[in-house]
This record gives sequence, C-alpha cells and structure tokens, in this order.
Amino acid sequence: MTDTLADSRTSSRVFTEGVPLVVDGGSRRSAAERAEVLADPGFGRFFTDNMFVARYRTGQGWYDARLTPYAPLQVDPSMATLHYAQSIFEGLKAYAQPDGSVATFRPEANAARFVRSAKRLAMPPVPEEAFIAAVDALVDADRDWVPTGADQTLYLRPYQMASEPFLGVRPAREYLFLVIASPAGAYFPRGVQPVSVYVSEDYVRASPGGTGDVKCAGNYAASLLAQEQAGEAGCDQVVWLDATEKRYVEEMGGMNLFFVLGSGDDAELITPELTGTLLPGITRASLIALAEEMGHRVTERKFGVDEWRRGVADGTVTETFACGTAAVITPVGEVKARTGDFVVGDGTPGPLTMRLREALLDIQHGRVADTHGWLHRVG
Ligand SMILES: *Cc1c(COP(=O)(O)O)cnc(C)c1O
Repeated sequence: MTDTLADSRTSSRVFTEGVPLVVDGGSRRSAAERAEVLADPGFGRFFTDNMFVARYRTGQGWYDARLTPYAPLQVDPSMATLHYAQSIFEGLKAYAQPDGSVATFRPEANAARFVRSAKRLAMPPVPEEAFIAAVDALVDADRDWVPTGADQTLYLRPYQMASEPFLGVRPAREYLFLVIASPAGAYFPRGVQPVSVYVSEDYVRASPGGTGDVKCAGNYAASLLAQEQAGEAGCDQVVWLDATEKRYVEEMGGMNLFFVLGSGDDAELITPELTGTLLPGITRASLIALAEEMGHRVTERKFGVDEWRRGVADGTVTETFACGTAAVITPVGEVKARTGDFVVGDGTPGPLTMRLREALLDIQHGRVADTHGWLHRVG
C-alpha cells in the first residue's frame, strides 16, 4: 500500500514538472504538409508530430515521462500485452476556441475512468492529474494540429499497456503510458445521417462481472465479428443486448443509446441504466445534464427491444440516437432484428436529437458560454 502511494506521488511530479516540452525540431512537418492533412483529415489516419510516453516499473513507479517525436515503438516479442491484452485506452478531443485558444472537454472525467479501467485490469493507475498533464503537454506541443474547420477536432488517444517481456500469466510489472493525437474531420461532412443498426442475438459485448464497464482493448476485439455480421445484414452498426436475458438494449457499437418518448417540450428521454455491463460514457452523462436543463425528464432504466419496437409502432418512441466522443450524436434510423425490422420515426434525424447535438457541439466549440465548467483550457 505504501509503495503504491509513493509511486503515485512520484508519477504526478514526473508528469507535471519533468516533462520536457521542447521537442526535437527535426521531425516537425512543414506548415504546407500540415495544411494538406488538415484539409481532409478523416478519422484516425494521420497523427501529429509528437507523442507522450511514460514508463512504469514496480518498485520504481512512473519514470522517463517525455514528449518525443511520433515514431514506431520497439517492443519485445514477449511483451505481455501482446499475449494477454492487459491494455486500456481513453478517447477525448481538443477543440479550437473562437478566441484562438484550445480546450479539451471534461478531461478529468476521462482521467477518472482511466484509473477505474486500470484497476479492473490489475494495472497501476496513472494518477488523474498526471493524465491531464500528459494530455495538456501533447496538445500544447502540437497545437498547430488542432484543426479550425467546421466541427473539426484533434482526437486524443491516451492508452496504457503491459510492457514487461514475460509469458507467465499475472499482472505485469512494467507498463507504458502513451498519448497520441490525430486530427479528425467533421463526422457528418454531408449533413447528419441516421445509421441503420443490427441487433446482435448471436454475440454479446459484455457480461455481468466482466469488463463491459471499462475501456479495455479486449472489449473491442470481441466486438468485431458482430460488427461484421451487422455489415453483412446491410447495417452500419451493431446493437448489443444484455448477456443474460438477451432482452434489454445496452449499447450501439462503442456508443451509448437514448430513446425519445413523445415530442416538443414534453418529450422525455430514456437511456439504459449503468448495470455494470455498460460503458459509462462522458457524452451520455453530459447529455443527461443538458436535456434536464432544457426541461426534459431523463430516466435511466432497462429498456427492452420489445418495448423499443412496440413504442415505435404505437408512436410513443419518436427518436433514437447514440452518443460518444467520436461522433457526438448519431441518429438511429432503421433497426434490423430476427424478431422483425422497424424504422424509428420517419427515418430522418429527430428534432430533440438535433437540438441536443447542437447544444453539446456549441459548448465544445466555445460558441456558447460554458456554464458547467466542462472546458479545460490548454496552455
Ligand atoms: C468510449 C465508449 C463509449 C462512449 O464514451 P464517451 O466517454 O462518451 O466517449 C460508449 N460505449 C463504449 C463501449 C465505449 O467504449
């Protein structure tokens, strides 16, 4: 216990005071090269000039924290994470603000979730203030890479993995913590389009007692086949049901779901409750707060596929949308399931879906006052 405390104290000092912010200028790409990438960044394809790396060893704590040119890692073929997937990640964004500054959105929530994910995978947590300092250091160094085009962002990917060269099955004694950054274009460059979804009845994403409520790499590996099945059924995304009864809707791909009941000022929202098999999204939490402030009742409870279908049929369920950092809000149009297909509303994005989407984007891009203190200025 004392060791852990000493470790975390060392680490926060290392990340905040010892990070060399001046980077080897030789690797910096020219303004012209940068402009070419930022003209059409897409998602996750291009990376900025630098990255943040820190190392951990049991008994020593976090050490060797540095900003360094973005470059391939050299790893040992026996590195534990390659074999047993002791690997977690986060996703957040930096937004260019109208006054020329740059801000991230609720990074302390990502930092807290990263700690929970680490603990679930028996990894030493990165202290929250060290996580934020690392993200800040990278964004500050690469602030020229924060795009300024409409709805463009700099996507940030902090991640941690077991780096010890060892094939025995136990928590590793060495880790890497990295942050990389990737400019991201507008998610819907040609206007918001609803996605079609396939309700997976063959596979589950998460089961009670498993890792569904943390952001670990293995959750994603296990989801790919179902996503492929959704594609074969002609759908964009997979919708996950609870593992036990295969009855309740949990998530869509890597996003949380909301259902709108009724319309206008009286519209209410339902979002699946956090039963331990859902990932507690920061976008989900933010939208619950915004919707309540707009006067809409939000209920967190179990929501069945049958209730969804019946509600759509009798007109009580008027809209459905998914939410997450990458896409913010994505409307759900067509739903395919073995028990019958249906279309939510008229298949176009619903009014409350679009209102909430604009409200959140306005805050993130600094177009309205940040009354919640959700923006974190960098530098
Ligand atoms: C990351 C993630 C989300 C969304 O979380 P945000 O914090 O809103 O980005 C939802 N579901 C899963 C499975 C995720 O991995």
